[in-house]
Amino acid sequence: MGSFYFFNINISISSSDIEFSPWQLTDNEEVEYVGEQPENIIIFIADGMGFGHLSIALQTLNSESQPSVWQEFEVKGWHDARSAFGPLTDSEASATAMTTGTSTQFGHIGIDKDGKVLENIFEIAYDQEYTTGIVTDSYIWDATPAAFLAHTRNEDDARDILTQISATNLDLIFGELEDLGEDDVPEKDETMEILSKRFKLLDRTLKLPDDDNGSIPVMAIFDEDEIQDLDSSPNLTQLTETALKYMSSQDKPFMLLVESEEIDAASHVHNSKRVINGLKSIQQTLAVLLKFSKIRGKTLVLFTSDHETGGLAPVADFKRYPNLQIKWSTKDHSAAVVPLFAYGPGAEYFADVHRNSEIGIRLKSLISRDKTSNE
Ligand SMILES: [Zn+2]
Repeated sequence: MGSFYFFNINISISSSDIEFSPWQLTDNEEVEYVGEQPENIIIFIADGMGFGHLSIALQTLNSESQPSVWQEFEVKGWHDARSAFGPLTDSEASATAMTTGTSTQFGHIGIDKDGKVLENIFEIAYDQEYTTGIVTDSYIWDATPAAFLAHTRNEDDARDILTQISATNLDLIFGELEDLGEDDVPEKDETMEILSKRFKLLDRTLKLPDDDNGSIPVMAIFDEDEIQDLDSSPNLTQLTETALKYMSSQDKPFMLLVESEEIDAASHVHNSKRVINGLKSIQQTLAVLLKFSKIRGKTLVLFTSDHETGGLAPVADFKRYPNLQIKWSTKDHSAAVVPLFAYGPGAEYFADVHRNSEIGIRLKSLISRDKTSNE
């Protein structure tokens, strides 16, 4: 191993100041899609996951005998997740860009940087009579689901977001509660009372109502950190399987958002073990979604992230090579571009996306075109 001696020299990690250049988008925003129309659209957002995390998944979590779930995607690209506030973003601004097509400010959910309410893709989907659903391993009023359901400048006002959620036409919501009773977060009883104005509560077995063909809006609500692990029962994969059953039994097109918060939560505190478990959970859930699309057809599966967290680098200590080590460069979000992968009809429409807001523009165009082609 003598030839690797130079890798063992201790070098302090340096940083230097580089000027940000805010380039404008070209006419890419207006690209029209002319291919096969997807009937169903599934969007998977892995909060905080960048190409460093993906590299760890590819190089440590896959066996030689089984193809990786990542290689099954037909389109593999990236997007620049910057907000209207420069190169960095947060989940509120990034999810808002992806669901409305407009870049916005930190902390803004479903509103532009000046506070104007933006229409999101779920609101268009309700009008087009899609069945809509959200599954998250985080709390249900968290930034990412909230950007698909609500409009607010205050991401901490859980009572307002929950009230807005119960006033939507959403058909399914599975996720956790968090910080009950703190600041603007109501206690569990009040939370359930707000949500039960729209949703019927499923028990832990997730048995769907068989009355009315399961068309009653449903919720499955868990306590803080109850469903976050791979070993939880239910876990994200099982919740997603139930959601697919519900969504596909309605004889209507559907739009489903699946969110995993684990990578972001783990990367903010540099918890490598939790990153690995989060990646396993994401891979396992993506396998279910891709299988659904393969068997049923007509289903676009879009995988992406809202931003990178931790500045993760997969590096090697040559004393332990080929084992990898995770190195972190920040406890915050980084400005690294993030993966954007697609499978199924409509996948190629996402091949040349540059900016997160273009994802929203394309999703809106796909479901709006659906209306005219059905008439
Ligand atoms: Zn974060």
